[in-house]
Amino acid sequence: MRAFTFSFALFLVSCVTNPETGSQAIIVTSSEQEAALGDRAFQEILSKERLSTNRRWQGILERVGKRIAEASRVDGFNWEFRLIESKTQNAFCLPGGKVAFYTGIFPAAVNEAGLAAIMGHEVAHATARHAGQRITLAFGTEIAFEGLNAILDGKLKDRPLLFAALGAGTMLGVSLPFSRAQESEADKIGLIYMARAGYDPHQAPAFWEKFGAASSQMPKFLSSHPPSDERMRALGEQVESVLGTYQSSPKYGTGEVL
Ligand SMILES: [Zn+2]
Repeated sequence: MRAFTFSFALFLVSCVTNPETGSQAIIVTSSEQEAALGDRAFQEILSKERLSTNRRWQGILERVGKRIAEASRVDGFNWEFRLIESKTQNAFCLPGGKVAFYTGIFPAAVNEAGLAAIMGHEVAHATARHAGQRITLAFGTEIAFEGLNAILDGKLKDRPLLFAALGAGTMLGVSLPFSRAQESEADKIGLIYMARAGYDPHQAPAFWEKFGAASSQMPKFLSSHPPSDERMRALGEQVESVLGTYQSSPKYGTGEVL
């Protein structure tokens, strides 16, 4: 009983409704707590990586990022967009708006709209609070017992798993893919963001298909986002549903070629 009271003192169990899809989820962490964890993980990842000196790509990443961020209409995120110099084909957005792209994924994106497709999808995982949902599932009781401060101080023994739950992929040695339902929600919301931001939504299925076909060895990012027939069919239908939004947006089309 005591533990029960303690958990409620630190964590407010809330049911959140996604404004874009209407889906509901139970989350034990607050968005502020998730953002604090996201910031911590971001610092740790950046301290181990080398930032790219490619000014042109940095500028494009920043431009696409800001447009997608604005299109997300989310409050309280402290956005940052970093370009990491690495052959790895990967990208992620942590809770609170910390985004990293690896230079390795740029050629596969082909153009700005390809980047916007990846950005929209990754940002959607963060704004839909999929990390909070995963933390709730994986750590529900433990996190309540040990407390958030213990995690932030690095005292929680499952810290790499926690960071993986945030969406930082395998950067800290642990892989924890998002669920299929979360992936399809990120696809759907990502397309909405893309259309609002003014990037041609047709470029999303085009990117995933090309990326899947061109990759000889399966990069981690692709293995967690396999362009299955089912996913491509759903994406195609969703493109149709956001065309109206795209028509009334600023329309950057496919943007600059990378
Ligand atoms: Zn995803």
